[in-house]
Amino acid sequence: MMNLPLVFKGDARKFVVFGAGEIASRKIQTLVSADAQVRVVAQSAHASIEALAAAQRIELLLRAIDAPNESFATHDMVVIATQDKALNSALAKAARQAGAMVCRVDDNLGSDFVFPAVIDRSPLLVAISSGGSSPALTRYLRQRLEAFLPSELRQLGRYVEQLRERLKTTLTEPERRTFWRRWMQSVAPDQILSKQQDAADATTQQLLENKLDLMGDVALVGAGPGDPDLLTFRALRLLQSADVVFYDRLVGAQIMDLIDSSVERFYVGKAKSNHSVPQENINQLLVDYAQQGKRVVRLKGGDPFIFGRGGEELTELVAAEVSFQVVPGITAASGCAAYAGIPLTHRDHAQSVRFVTGHLKDGTCDLPWAELIHPHQTLVIYMGLTGIAHICKQLTQYGMPADTPIALVEKGTLPDQRVHTGTLATMANLIATRSIQAPTLTIIGSVVSLHEQLRWR
Ligand code: SAH
Repeated sequence: MMNLPLVFKGDARKFVVFGAGEIASRKIQTLVSADAQVRVVAQSAHASIEALAAAQRIELLLRAIDAPNESFATHDMVVIATQDKALNSALAKAARQAGAMVCRVDDNLGSDFVFPAVIDRSPLLVAISSGGSSPALTRYLRQRLEAFLPSELRQLGRYVEQLRERLKTTLTEPERRTFWRRWMQSVAPDQILSKQQDAADATTQQLLENKLDLMGDVALVGAGPGDPDLLTFRALRLLQSADVVFYDRLVGAQIMDLIDSSVERFYVGKAKSNHSVPQENINQLLVDYAQQGKRVVRLKGGDPFIFGRGGEELTELVAAEVSFQVVPGITAASGCAAYAGIPLTHRDHAQSVRFVTGHLKDGTCDLPWAELIHPHQTLVIYMGLTGIAHICKQLTQYGMPADTPIALVEKGTLPDQRVHTGTLATMANLIATRSIQAPTLTIIGSVVSLHEQLRWR
């Protein structure tokens, strides 16, 4: 049989709490957050409860508890939380006889009501309850869910509350129902979650004027370096609510597996051998799908604004007046460095770090070599393996010591990550003897010497 979940106004009833230890203190805190009227009776009280009494948020009676002589009113809600089981039973009995509702923290079967675990995004509230039978499980669930319910839900709740008031006078009941269904499916809720209130107002207005039959949006999302655990919560939420996902080569299968099978997906990678989709076509596809009313996610490896052409794709969206947001991702340099145990800066080694890409449009590698030679700087090179020998040679020629440590991180953050270390002098020969797979990232500088000591995977 199911328990009955009801949501009470905090001040609907008076609460009497017996006991003022740690558990009681948590219940009291919840009651106070909901503006309940609370009287606490206890021999002695936890400091936090005394503070609430001093602030006049609760009434605190410090005295011995005497079950037969305590008086209860019919409509009281009684929370029994003393350390003494016999006393708790006697209090429960007396309270029930007087017609009050009882919650015993030491006996959920003997309780009329229990406190659920709560995720508070007022005015939205998520309550999770096992009817008191397994608090550890409800806490665990609450923690998991917390992560998926952004704090901006509060704003969304308030926005809806206000809009609802406004619509009461302007739309009829059936119109309101249609409006809300369309509003919830539109980009407006997400615009509020990503703090684009003006855009949400515009979307709402267009919906009200019935203009907005079809208008999607695009989220340019960084997928991080590969390990799905390194996605951001927002990235995951957007992937789960997308209609269509455009992804490229660096986005691995493990991340794509998180997306529901009903979601359309398009590979627009630029693998050397395959037919690749030209950049202009990608830009156009994003615009086309958004204009068909689709929620589009453009998923890119690492961070979309670091060697990711994110900027180019957005320009097109701006021109077509498609609404968009950008979600940062963990860039390969951060991911590879962390998972290889190579701090990119370190007070004994490097005070700055420089990210460069060696790839030119024509596939060759050219870098401002002289600028890169700096004793206290870590150099991170985003590009494939092919240029490594050339890079080591050029850096040495421009004056970087030949024994400068260098690491090549292969498939960083993925289960089969490997870290190859050597020096500018040895690296080219070393990689020639190993079969190394893309993607790889190169880290150069004395921080690399910390890898032996700090490696942890
Ligand atoms: N926007 C991406 C970079 C795209 S450029 C980001 O922020 O990470 C592509 C280059 O990134 C690759 O050639 C490689 O050098 C590097 N890279 C991306 N993911 C990687 C990984 N998991 N391991 C090693 N290098 C990676």
